[in-house]
Amino acid sequence: MCGIVGYIGDKKATPILINGLLSLEYRGYDSAGIAVIQNNEICTFKDKGRVANLQKAPELNNLTSNIGIAHTRWATHGKPSKENSHPHLDNSNNFAVVHNGIIENYNELKEFLSSKGYKFLSETDTEVIPNLIHYYYTNEIFEGDKFLQAVKVATNKLKGSYAIEVISKLHPDRIIVVRKDSPLVIGTKATENFIASDIPAILSYTKDFYLLDDYEYAVVYKDHVQFFDNTLSEHSKPVKNIEWDATSAEKNGYEDYMLKEIYEQPNAILETIGTRLKLGENCCFDDIGITKEYLQKINKIYIVACGTAMHAGLVGKVALEKLTHIPTEVDIASEFRYRDPILNEKTLCIFISQSGETADTIAALKLSKSKGAKTLAISNVVGSSITREADYSIYTHAGPEIAVASTKAYTSQIVLLIILAIYFAENLQSTNSSVLNNLKNDILDLPTKLETVLTETENIKDFAKKVYNETDMYFLGRGTDYAVSMEGSLKLKEISYIHSESYAAGELKHGPIALIENGVTVIGILTNPDLVEKTISNIQEVVSRGAKTLIITNQNITNNNFDFVIDIPETNNLISPILSIVPLQLLAYYISKYKGLDVDKPRNLAKSVTVE
Ligand code: GLU
Repeated sequence: MCGIVGYIGDKKATPILINGLLSLEYRGYDSAGIAVIQNNEICTFKDKGRVANLQKAPELNNLTSNIGIAHTRWATHGKPSKENSHPHLDNSNNFAVVHNGIIENYNELKEFLSSKGYKFLSETDTEVIPNLIHYYYTNEIFEGDKFLQAVKVATNKLKGSYAIEVISKLHPDRIIVVRKDSPLVIGTKATENFIASDIPAILSYTKDFYLLDDYEYAVVYKDHVQFFDNTLSEHSKPVKNIEWDATSAEKNGYEDYMLKEIYEQPNAILETIGTRLKLGENCCFDDIGITKEYLQKINKIYIVACGTAMHAGLVGKVALEKLTHIPTEVDIASEFRYRDPILNEKTLCIFISQSGETADTIAALKLSKSKGAKTLAISNVVGSSITREADYSIYTHAGPEIAVASTKAYTSQIVLLIILAIYFAENLQSTNSSVLNNLKNDILDLPTKLETVLTETENIKDFAKKVYNETDMYFLGRGTDYAVSMEGSLKLKEISYIHSESYAAGELKHGPIALIENGVTVIGILTNPDLVEKTISNIQEVVSRGAKTLIITNQNITNNNFDFVIDIPETNNLISPILSIVPLQLLAYYISKYKGLDVDKPRNLAKSVTVE
């Protein structure tokens, strides 16, 4: 999820590796490390914290090695610590590995390796990889390149996502790399080759790149690179000349982090689903530790959060109530902490914070614990403050989010809350299993459907061009569509500075309709088949008062006089917010661009609100 760098050539590897890591720092990380082959041994330097800490080690200056691998970690399995930092070595110190991504079946592989006598020094999923390579290297008979064969057999056992670099002191002339669903590129020159998860890490050394495909192996020597497919038959690969400047490279070619992160949503959802949800099996939260007996005791759930995370909670509430029949309330953390909430040991309080450092959310969590409630934290940052305070913690795996306006963290939080609701329902047997199975199917289809929604970008851009000079906008919806309209309105405020309000469509007549006049923009979200007719009637009321309308829908609403309609794929109403928010994120983004604003760093806002 974070950064990888590698070097082999005629220069000293360490300065190049450190420079590469420094150019990836903008992405955020919690630990850093490097490994080089020096005097026939693998030497590693790693720790939690900044790359600058690594640089302080005086021994680094003595390293003359010309081959090495390096990593910045965004923890997914195990807290940020020296032991959990990469590179990881096998038990015999023959192989070193850095890895970006998540190995979903690491528990199973750990059991297999433990039964063969392997010991584990970290809590990571990654540590199985060097040990598997060692196991196959020593126990299987291979023809040809033993190192490559062992890496191939080992990686074929992995489920999940990975970009991996491997070095071996037994083969000090090469680095083997492979990827699946995680980026990896090789920069090439006559007598040196560079490896990176992201182009900016090595852009100052070369503009010539090989872009690795999924399941493609590259054996990188100092003066050439060999490519192999998954059957290890060799093929050649064209070099691509990348003409990006350093800034656009940091954003992977996107103009802004926010746009990059909007486009990362299919993958963020895929990673967050991970192994927690599979068809034909009960949902699984290895990491949570809540017992069935405790679940049976709960008679009230509070979801407590701020801003976008609170909006994710509003969708989670609908799912939890519908599937578990446990009354669920959503509270704003800064209100909850001062309103003396009624809590006891039968109350479960769920706290959501992308960074896990939101001051009001942490305070609300401490209060809940002191009143005897059980607490569950949802965060995108392993080891963050809320996860350390809470009784139970689970993680979204959205990867680092840099733009201040949250996008992929929001959709990942909703997915996680809904999987959690299914998990509770399965344990409580509170919902028919066929209903849950249909919902699971719909969740698994989300990444593909999100790709479809993203193809609407140009249409949304056209609408943004028409409305970017407006001063007010209104968002309407019912049920989960109302929750989405709140988030759509917040996105617009945050980055375009346009005044906007969201209303439950049924509330329109109770006041807000007085604000509707000729030319005002109203955005309607219509994805709930049971409520669509009612919301349409409300929107017709604003149309007849001259409003300009944009409708986001997965329903057939052809006979209406709306100005713009964005069709999104149909799905269960509980999860439709994950699709219907995307056009609203893009709308806010393009309006902000047309206004010439700084999308990623809007005025007066900070990414993580660590003060009250
Ligand atoms: N899952 C691995 C870990 O937690 C890799 C995380 C990353 O991509 O940085 O160590």
